[in-house]
Amino acid sequence: MADAALAPERVAARWAEVQERLAAALARTGRTDSVTVVAVTKGHPPAAVDAALALGLRDIGENRVQELEAKVAVAGRDRATWHLLGPLQRNKIRRALPLVDRFHALDSLRIAESLSTAAEMQGRRLPVLVEVNCSGEATKHGFRPDETLQVLARLVEFPGLAIEGLMTMAPWTDHEPTLRATFRCLRRLRDAAAARWPQVHHLSMGMSNDYPIAVEEGSTIVRLGTALFGERPT
Ligand SMILES: *Cc1c(COP(=O)(O)O)cnc(C)c1O
Repeated sequence: MADAALAPERVAARWAEVQERLAAALARTGRTDSVTVVAVTKGHPPAAVDAALALGLRDIGENRVQELEAKVAVAGRDRATWHLLGPLQRNKIRRALPLVDRFHALDSLRIAESLSTAAEMQGRRLPVLVEVNCSGEATKHGFRPDETLQVLARLVEFPGLAIEGLMTMAPWTDHEPTLRATFRCLRRLRDAAAARWPQVHHLSMGMSNDYPIAVEEGSTIVRLGTALFGERPT
């Protein structure tokens, strides 16, 4: 049975609203650059990928390797730019690598080393974002803010990785000061990092709950699931 929440006109209406709110957030801060929207299809059937592609959204995000594989198999490897948003285990690296265009959740040097070696063997330099735990929540992945610059100094040396920026996940809250503090933490680290390594320029921050605030705080990549496709079926 077709999923009504994924009907093309429903997704198109949500996308129109997202574009409006993004434009308003950019305008409020006088930004003239643009923000990349990663359409997060995790938890939704492959029809979500089709709906996104039909609207011209090319960047598709998945959280888990197995679900990424399933979506790529249906949609086609070359029809989208595929983002892996969730943590990667070492035993899944070789399977995942050919399917991933950008990895958003690098959170350990051990993984970095394995990923770099595997990418080199496949003749690639994988675009990577380094995850930072700016909220301090124990349940969140990522490097601590106070270790991030030291870690970056090591990460930029890996020949199979292209370190393009930082990523964080804000706490699940509507408390604006908490959200802003989280995003500012990441931005400050990015500014400090970019002064030494200009390639570290992206800020992957902002999800359905908080993306206008993230954009006001400088986000260059937002990752949107619910805002585009509705609640995930559980
Ligand atoms: C699920 C997920 C998202 C999207 O979440 P929504 O709240 O549905 O927008 C973004 N980033 C990551 C890492 C996720 O796991």
